[in-house]
Amino acid sequence: MGMETTRLFQRCLLLLLLLVGHCVLAQRPDSPAFSVVPLGVKGGLDEGNLSAYLVAASGSTSYVCLDAGSVYSGVEKAVARKVFTGSAGEVIRNNIKAYLISHAHLDHVAGLLLNATDDSPKSIYGLSDCLKTIQNDYFNWRTWPNFGSSGNPPALRKYQLQPLTPGQETALENTVLSVQTFVLSHGKPYQSAAFLIRSQNSYLLYLGDTGADAIEKAPQLRNLWQAIQPLVKAGQLKAIFIETSYANVQPPAQLFGHLTPALLMQEMAALSQLTGAAALRGLPVVITHIKPTAGNETAIKKQLTEANSLQMKLIFPEQGQLLQF
Ligand SMILES: [Zn+2]
Repeated sequence: MGMETTRLFQRCLLLLLLLVGHCVLAQRPDSPAFSVVPLGVKGGLDEGNLSAYLVAASGSTSYVCLDAGSVYSGVEKAVARKVFTGSAGEVIRNNIKAYLISHAHLDHVAGLLLNATDDSPKSIYGLSDCLKTIQNDYFNWRTWPNFGSSGNPPALRKYQLQPLTPGQETALENTVLSVQTFVLSHGKPYQSAAFLIRSQNSYLLYLGDTGADAIEKAPQLRNLWQAIQPLVKAGQLKAIFIETSYANVQPPAQLFGHLTPALLMQEMAALSQLTGAAALRGLPVVITHIKPTAGNETAIKKQLTEANSLQMKLIFPEQGQLLQF
């Protein structure tokens, strides 16, 4: 080989190496921080598939259950999809270490209530108003036996009801996770909650049912966006779980504290004002609580996809199908 040819060959080789290196780096995904198993994804009607999401640190089998509309039927689906080995009952007793309940509406607690008899002792975390409703209106020996730890005797003490203080970080027992809680408005003055789950330096945000600030005439979501914006900018927030119950056709007076695609995008625009639009590009946004009435689901998916100028990664979860973030 002549001198020139050798030099040319070396340059080509260098270029090729740089190119390969770049592709490898560009395509290497960050290793996931969270495993999520949706146990229920709908916002009504389908009583075997109502809001409930298992969350664990990646590699761990110790989950917390965010809301508990459907538990047993969701775990059965996950077992069928080989996400868990063992029976649904074993998974509920052994792998669910605690429940976090955003609000006490039946479509968020029915699975917990119906499985209480066969569950293992654990904690239920929530805002104190939500826990009071669970204790006084369900665990009272009238609507259901008292599986709680106070209230109408005898208290069976299956569950420790542990109030969460907004803005304060609380370690979630028997897991490596902790939570910070935010108050949401779900048809004023009714309160719901958002849970910011932390595993080491990574975060996942789950919102229970919520209306938009503009409709609720409340600053709750603005306060939440303000609190999480540094995490979004730093790439530490791995996913947002947020509801879209109704399509845009729903009149504002009949939203009952829920979001539409237009209102969700309005709120995401408010967040992007704080973070810059680039920080939201590719951010996984998991759409929860879609009401499965005729045409509603299709309309919501279409309207969200068309309005996604921020280029977030919209995810429509399926019952029992593992997600990683
Ligand atoms: Zn609700």
